[in-house]
Amino acid sequence: MQEDLFKRLVAHCKEYGFVYPSSEVYDGLGGVYDYGPLGVELKNNIKSYWWNAMVKVHENIVGLDSAIFMHPLIWKASGHVDAFNDPLVDNKDSKKRFRADVLIETEIDKLRAKADKEVEKAAKRFGESFDEKLYRETNPRVSDYLQRAEAVEKRLAASLQSGDMADIKAIIEELEITEPDTGSKNWTDVRQFNLMFSTQMSNIAGEEGKLYLRPETAQGIFVNFLNVQKTTRQKIPFGIAQVGKAFRNEIVARQFIFRMREFEQMEMQYFVRPGTEMEWFQYWKEKRMAWHKAITPAEKLKFKDHDNLAHYANAAVDIQFEFPFGFKELEGIHSRTDFDLKSHSDLSGKKMTYYDPELEEHYIPYVVETSVGCDRMFLSVLSNALIEETVPDAQGEDAKRTVLKIHPALSPVKCAVLPIVRNKEELVGKAREIYDRLKLHFLCQYDEKDAIGRRYRRQDAIGTPYCVTIDFDTIEDDTVTIRERDSMRQERIPVSEVVRIVRERTDMANLLG
Ligand code: ATP
Repeated sequence: MQEDLFKRLVAHCKEYGFVYPSSEVYDGLGGVYDYGPLGVELKNNIKSYWWNAMVKVHENIVGLDSAIFMHPLIWKASGHVDAFNDPLVDNKDSKKRFRADVLIETEIDKLRAKADKEVEKAAKRFGESFDEKLYRETNPRVSDYLQRAEAVEKRLAASLQSGDMADIKAIIEELEITEPDTGSKNWTDVRQFNLMFSTQMSNIAGEEGKLYLRPETAQGIFVNFLNVQKTTRQKIPFGIAQVGKAFRNEIVARQFIFRMREFEQMEMQYFVRPGTEMEWFQYWKEKRMAWHKAITPAEKLKFKDHDNLAHYANAAVDIQFEFPFGFKELEGIHSRTDFDLKSHSDLSGKKMTYYDPELEEHYIPYVVETSVGCDRMFLSVLSNALIEETVPDAQGEDAKRTVLKIHPALSPVKCAVLPIVRNKEELVGKAREIYDRLKLHFLCQYDEKDAIGRRYRRQDAIGTPYCVTIDFDTIEDDTVTIRERDSMRQERIPVSEVVRIVRERTDMANLLG
């Protein structure tokens, strides 16, 4: 684990106003975070990137903003009341609670990491002639690690599927899994735990008035499927996209904003003809990966097929990102069959069929879902971007810089306006005039405090792609210096060109083409 990067990242988020622990004055609230002034800008930009790529560029995808509170029967139909339970286990010594499947998955990761280490060592030993594939298959120690990992993975999947909690406990014991902080192996039995938060409607007493905070945004889309289809007159295939809060009473909310109890999802449900769902599953799998690759290096992303399919799915894959604590799920793509529409139709007694004019047939559409966590996306963008580098030809304090190399289209602040000195009225006046013009187009910052080098560093640390500096020549010839964040190159350009240049280089359209 790149512990150092992760620690720096959490500290950086707090120091510069990206993310704060929630309710900090009361010592925080586990698994809940607040987004600060720069955090909200970055998060909004991530949401726009997703929304534009889904709704704006697809004529057949439309948006929705459904309420968080929904009829409680929705969660009965979806399976969340009865079937969506996490297996949990307590450590009797530390009194801490864990998700049993996550503990086991961590052990599986460790076995695979051991295999990778052996391969790495061998690669160094053998040099150029090294055949990694052959080595993985034939080296007894490596294949033993890999086979053990696979066997545990399969057994876990089968036990989760059949709800065999005793076997999950047996796996924990056989693998001699210890409590991560204390090393204790003193575990309780594994029990099922429902992850939905509930609250009470004021005018209805008892169970009847029990409402759930939605654990996913998808169900708001399913129950509005016919409304949207009728009002937009979309023909199948078409999609409905939604961004919104979801709530899960996660047993262990860990790893900062990776696993939260209140988080945001960006989900799209694509309604298709039954029998064509696998083609569309493939299509969205590739499309979504391309969306990630436009802002993230390819080697940090990979697909991971699900061994353990949820009760509603006939195919599922995760897009994983290499977080500082390893490859983990960033987005899920599921072929959800007609499970949800059919369940809602059965339970509500309302027909949820679509009339296909080409086939001249009524049917319940099949659904392919893409679901990405906005907060996990935020974490992936920042863990990619946070870089400490040595500045060539610089001395002393200036020799190192911390820079957030966020894609310019996603950067919170697009341009900083900096008068070279603060005590010359005409310079400050000119800089203010330029700032007042720029701020109509994008989020800018005006900064006149400290030496120019320090001001550049402050902008680097928050990922501002461009700094415009106003100096004495600006008064003479109406030109400014524009400095690019990553290369630190400076160019002289006319004041009249600043808006055009910054807009062109930070335009979201650059990511969508
Ligand atoms: P995990 O296995 O990590 O618990 P999941 O498979 O339950 O995730 P989905 O139900 O597929 O997740 O939800 C879709 C997306 O929502 C995930 O890919 C993730 O990005 C995000 N997400 C899910 N749970 C959380 C959470 N507790 N905090 C932040 N984001 C989350």
